[in-house]
Amino acid sequence: MTDPDPAAGFDTARPSRLVVLAGPTAVGKGTVAADVRKQHPEVWLSVSATTRKPRPGEQDGVHYWFVSEDEFDAMIEHGELLEWAVVHKRARYGTPRKPVEEALAKGLPALLEIDLQGARQVRETMPGARFVFLMPPSWDELVRRLVGRGTETDEERERRLETARDELAAEGEFDVTIVNHEVHSAAEELVDLMLLDDEHRFDL
Ligand code: 5GP
Repeated sequence: MTDPDPAAGFDTARPSRLVVLAGPTAVGKGTVAADVRKQHPEVWLSVSATTRKPRPGEQDGVHYWFVSEDEFDAMIEHGELLEWAVVHKRARYGTPRKPVEEALAKGLPALLEIDLQGARQVRETMPGARFVFLMPPSWDELVRRLVGRGTETDEERERRLETARDELAAEGEFDVTIVNHEVHSAAEELVDLMLLDDEHRFDL
């Protein structure tokens, strides 16, 4: 095993402990991440903080930490967020830094499911992470999934589609693309990228 040459670019054969999963809205990032957790409970999944209101069935501390604008301001001010962004021009979302650091210190494979702006910030601060882009099988399928979810207003949906168009254009910035034809196989592809071999782990 030779040390990789950083100038040679990304080596897809190298598993990483920290995987950042991004991709356009409604592509199914949350569902894929949940499937990973179900099949592989050893994978640690970051719980983001957000200023958006919970949807029916969402639990504080499980799906998100639901916080006020003031609380989010304080988290930024105290440097508690690894990254944060305004998503869909509406609410703020951010990754609490400490739990990520603790998970990595324990050697757990960690997964962040965040938006494109957040992924770009993590690339700056943790360049050793592996950046994965989840693609819909087609644009029409993405629209169908977004409409099918039925949890957003027309205005909100339009805003999300606008964001999705920009996000799709960023695929080339990522190390790996996974097409979400089917949740379980996409999750398995993701897990393959998180292989747990100490000898091969990334230094973050
Ligand atoms: P939703 O409101 O549908 O749960 O999520 C909206 C978007 O916010 C998704 O694209 C999701 O990936 C993104 N998101 C969730 N958590 C975070 C986070 O901690 N940071 C960033 N930058 N985006 C996030």
